[in-house]
Amino acid sequence: MARIDAIVLGAGIVGTSVGLHLAKRGLAVALVDRRAPGEETSYGNAGVIEGNTVFPPAFPSDPIALLRIALKRAPEANYHLSFLPQVAPWLLQFRAASRPERLVETARLMRPLFARAVAEHEALLAEAGAERYLRKTGWLKLYRSDRAFDALKREFALAQEFGMPLHALDPDGARELEPSLAPVFRHAVFWPLAASVADPLAVTKAYAARFAALGGVVVRGNARSLHRANACWRVETAEGPLDAAQAVVALGPFAPDVLSPLGITLPLAVKRGYHRHYRGAGNAALARPVVDMEIGYCLAPMDQGLFPLGESVETTPWMGSRPCFADSRPVIGRAPGQSGLWLAYGHAHWGLTLGPATGRLLAEMMTGATPFCDPAPYGAERFGR
Ligand SMILES: Cc1cc2nc3c(=O)[nH]c(=O)nc-3n(C[C@H](O)[C@H](O)[C@H](O)COP(=O)(O)OP(=O)(O)OC[C@H]3O[C@@H](n4cnc5c(N)ncnc54)[C@H](O)[C@@H]3O)c2cc1C
Repeated sequence: MARIDAIVLGAGIVGTSVGLHLAKRGLAVALVDRRAPGEETSYGNAGVIEGNTVFPPAFPSDPIALLRIALKRAPEANYHLSFLPQVAPWLLQFRAASRPERLVETARLMRPLFARAVAEHEALLAEAGAERYLRKTGWLKLYRSDRAFDALKREFALAQEFGMPLHALDPDGARELEPSLAPVFRHAVFWPLAASVADPLAVTKAYAARFAALGGVVVRGNARSLHRANACWRVETAEGPLDAAQAVVALGPFAPDVLSPLGITLPLAVKRGYHRHYRGAGNAALARPVVDMEIGYCLAPMDQGLFPLGESVETTPWMGSRPCFADSRPVIGRAPGQSGLWLAYGHAHWGLTLGPATGRLLAEMMTGATPFCDPAPYGAERFGR
């Protein structure tokens, strides 16, 4: 294979976006994955480009909510008892990061990335000839109780400070937007600037095709084979060993498989998530993703299925693992103690949203350009050595 400047390990939405941004800047890049692009976590997400995220999901502060989870009565969260001792340190960090002042800090630190989310997708979708997948129809959050809606005051205030429009709606207002919804909720919030895609897998594949059109190489290989060979990083692939001065670990929830043997142990946990496609019943349809905030599920119109629920398209639900750091920030930047190695993973609930913005930021850092935002909040150094 010809000279390679950078190896990107992982062809999910994050790695593919990194590879594409590096290729756009003239680097010779190999994108290495054991599967075809986009077929792991990036396949099964709800397709929301959630650029107007304010607060990340938080550890429950309400003892009753916590008790419901502990007793496995909460539809939005489940756990294996035997896994608790292993995940306890992460949960404690997550609880600490969920204090009100820490959530506000996270919202501010993440804003520069979220603010670019939709625009960076639009740019890549246009280049890739894949604009047809984009819906700029916002998204709708439903609240079944006054209590849950009343708890949004801080979020509304911060959204206003960030200049993000939102519309609080009653059930009739929400059903003007989405007539097929049953009136089982008391409040709704419409976020008009959110976008979504009709087929997340097709989007990653379109970005990979654009990457290949720019001369990038998509190759099957095992990222676990990453090791140093003289002054380079080497990985074994189906087309033989590949060497490059720079390598990027963009393996989402699988990143520890490669990083732990290199002595890089950052506190990543995974939150499982599921999807299932259903055919529509009757003429009912949705124009945008709708999330039932208190029951914890999202209805997202996809090319494969429609709302409301008729027959299911698949026999079993799909399960994916969201790669999550306890402070709800991804790691984007240099790998500690390993020259030429870069990290782009841990995008939790927002990997689709933030893939292209991450790709641009990391490519700017790797090529010595001025990054579009301060990358310090996303550095691995924040976890200490
Ligand atoms: C149910 C659900 C709904 C979601 N909804 C949304 C949403 O609406 N909006 C949003 O922004 N985000 C959403 N997310 C989160 C989002 O899907 C993830 O954050 C994102 O897909 C992570 O992308 P990634 O590229 O980091 O990881 P991945 O897509 O998992 O990519 C990692 C790649 O590494 C490869 N790999 C792993 N190990 C090896 C190895 N040893 N050798 C070679 N290759 C390897 C894998 O094959 C894979 O292709 C959702 C997640 C779930 C589970």
